[in-house]
Amino acid sequence: MCAPVYAAGDYQDANLNGSIDWDLSFPAVDCDMCLTSWGNGGGKPLPYECPDSLREEMSTKKRERSLFHGEHVALQQRLLEELNIRGEPFVDVRPGSRFPPLHLDIPSRPRADFLWPYGAMLVSKRVRDILCDLCCEDVATFPVNLRKVGKREAKLPAPIPKSGEPEDIIKEASLLSDTSEVGPYYEAFPRHASNEPPNWIIEIESRCDACGRVKAKVAHRKRLDPLRMADDTWRGHSIFYLGSTGHIVVTAEVGEALKAVRPSNMRLVEVLCL
Ligand SMILES: [Zn+2]
Repeated sequence: MCAPVYAAGDYQDANLNGSIDWDLSFPAVDCDMCLTSWGNGGGKPLPYECPDSLREEMSTKKRERSLFHGEHVALQQRLLEELNIRGEPFVDVRPGSRFPPLHLDIPSRPRADFLWPYGAMLVSKRVRDILCDLCCEDVATFPVNLRKVGKREAKLPAPIPKSGEPEDIIKEASLLSDTSEVGPYYEAFPRHASNEPPNWIIEIESRCDACGRVKAKVAHRKRLDPLRMADDTWRGHSIFYLGSTGHIVVTAEVGEALKAVRPSNMRLVEVLCL
C-alpha cells in the first residue's frame, strides 16, 4: 500500500496529505559506548498510550531531550512495568519512539480514505473497520487529532505559498474554526515486520552492544522495484512492514477487501513472490 504518484508533485502532496506532530515521545539517547546521539527525528509509533505518570518525561516540549544510555534503559523499563508489558529495552522500545495521538495539520479539507503525511499512514473510518475486521491482531489504530484543517476543497489545485516551500501552504491556509464535521481519521500501523526481502540486502558494518545502533548499508536498494518476497520473508501476518524497507504490505485477502470499497488516495502495488 502506498501513496499515488502526484502529477503536481510536492505541492499537491503537502496540500492533500498535510503533516503530523505529536506531544509525547521518548527522548534521544547519548550513548557513552558508541559516542553517538540518536533518536531525535521522526519516531517509530508505539502501539499503546503513554501512562500519565510518564507524560512529563516524554513531553516533546521539554528542553532537555536526551538521556545517557543507563538513564534511557531505566525510563524504558519504567514504561514496560507501568503497562505490564514484556519487552526488551532498545529492542521493543527505542529512543524517539512516539506515543499516540498524532496531530494533523492539513491545508485542505480531507475527504480521501488514505492520507500520507510524512512518517504515517492515516485512514478513514471505513478503512479502519476493514483493517480491524481482517487484521485485528496485526494492526494498531488510534484516532488522530485534526488540529489545523484548511477550508479549501482538497480536489482544487494546490496553492503555491509565497516562500515557494510546500510545507508553508498550511501557514497561508484559511482554517476551519470547527473540525467536528471532518473525518474521523485514524493512524494505522503494522505491529510486526517481515524478514528482509531477498532484494534488500543489508551489510552490517557495526552494532553497538549498549544501544544497539546499527551502522549498515543497503547493498541492493535499487533492485527493490518491483517489491519481492521469498518463501522465508513472510512471518504469517496479514499486514506488516516489509523488513526494514518502510513499505506496508497486506495479504491478498486484505488487499481484495480494500479494493472492493475503491479507497481514494491509495495505490496497491503487487509484491512479486519468488
Ligand atoms: Zn551505542
